[in-house]
Amino acid sequence: MSDGWVELREPDVEVDEPTGPQPVVAVVGRPNVGKSTLVNRIIGRRQAVVEDVPGVTRDRVPYDAQWNGRSFTVVDTGGWEPDAKDRAAAIAAQAETAVLTADVVIFVVDAMVGSTDVDEAAVRMLRRSAKPVILVANKTDNSTIELEATSLWSLGLGEPYPISALHGRGSGELLDAILDALPEAPKIVENRPRGPRRVALVGRPNVGKSSLLNRFSGEERAVVDSVAGTTVDPVDSLVEIGGETWQLVDTAGLRKRVGKASGTEYYASLRTAGAIEAAEVAVVLLDSSEPISEQDQRILTMVVEAGRALVIAFNKWDLVDADRRYYLDKEIDRELRRIPWAIRLNLSAQTGRAVDKLAPALRKALESWETRVPTAQLNQWLTALVQATPHPVRGGRAPKILFATQAGVSPPRFVLFTTAPLDAGYQRFVERKLREEFGFEGSPVEISVRPRK
Ligand code: GDP
Ligand code: GDP
Repeated sequence: MSDGWVELREPDVEVDEPTGPQPVVAVVGRPNVGKSTLVNRIIGRRQAVVEDVPGVTRDRVPYDAQWNGRSFTVVDTGGWEPDAKDRAAAIAAQAETAVLTADVVIFVVDAMVGSTDVDEAAVRMLRRSAKPVILVANKTDNSTIELEATSLWSLGLGEPYPISALHGRGSGELLDAILDALPEAPKIVENRPRGPRRVALVGRPNVGKSSLLNRFSGEERAVVDSVAGTTVDPVDSLVEIGGETWQLVDTAGLRKRVGKASGTEYYASLRTAGAIEAAEVAVVLLDSSEPISEQDQRILTMVVEAGRALVIAFNKWDLVDADRRYYLDKEIDRELRRIPWAIRLNLSAQTGRAVDKLAPALRKALESWETRVPTAQLNQWLTALVQATPHPVRGGRAPKILFATQAGVSPPRFVLFTTAPLDAGYQRFVERKLREEFGFEGSPVEISVRPRK
């Protein structure tokens, strides 16, 4: 096909990455049993974990880990009061926090020492919880110690996993056991299957969708009379924009210019929703010469609720004079306040003004949509933020954010693990600051809060 159109009869819609938060594994145990060494072993980077200075309280630090195509978060619950009067109480408290925030708890015992009173205090707490607990007999450097480690059955946590975090002995079996204990978790979607990025070109009738499409196709499409009552199958077009091929989803109606005859408004709206759903990024066209309407708002809402990247194109910019500009700016302030992150372009499908800005805007929006913030970086930022601006005190207490992880991309989804639900205002503040720090221009961002029960 030489006219710039390629028709794809069956748009292949991939399954999005599942939305559940990444499962959390907490590592609990007395000081010096080898928790950081084990976390290093699990995340596979020796330098990643901050060297532990004996006697210094270590904060809860989460790290990203992957094993056999599964990803999860490991939290080193080092937070141990060095001069706690009651060591047993201290470790029980540590275990309690771990249980509250984690899906799986790894309880580490020093196999060379065997179980101590302090270990037993922690175990009592762990056994009361419904969370799966994996008992690790660390420092099992050889088979003699392994034999002794069997005595740890007496802790009542089931079979001990004899490992040597330092040398790696038994760590594969342990990781398999961790995966078995994890709740259903997202499979890592390695790389998106290559292919053109999918774009929905949407907007209410007469905003200029066909005109813009025709600009990319490089030729005017003939107006084809509509056949009333005919259902047109979704047909996508491949077009070249900015030197790159894009897949414009469900543009059949646009090309044929069936226009208003294509059905009721209800049908058109279903169709718009379908196109947005099938796309990765949506270009919502607005007619700059007219006030932003309720119908425009509905389409924008569809994009936001579908979690797609968003570029708003103010079309017919050639009709905007100084007077209209004044009112438009006010409308934008008022009507688009909830989506300040959307990328906005002022263009004209008719004159070609700024049409070349579309491809860079699409690329930027998609890049934001797929951004993954490393857990360590995320928590460094969060710790500083919470320290500078803590959650306001409510009834004598302030909810604490323990840590955060990014649960997924497309769009970026974050989970905050907290001691109690957060005020809506504070949550918005965190989102605003998150955007200030990491960008996400052109992409929605979801933040959910997981308070400990
Ligand atoms: P944590 O306080 O529980 O985080 O313990 P660390 O990971 O800091 O380890 C405490 C000490 O035990 C360090 O000197 C480690 O090198 C050592 N260690 C950790 N794992 C093993 C192991 O499997 N075998 C032996 N022999 N020593 C280990
Ligand atoms: P659609 O219903 O969204 O596909 O809109 P069309 O592409 O059919 O455009 C509706 C009307 O707006 C047509 O008369 C176009 O010529 C006109 N139009 C489209 N884009 C522009 C533009 O950038 N400037 C001006 N002045 N008119 C435009």
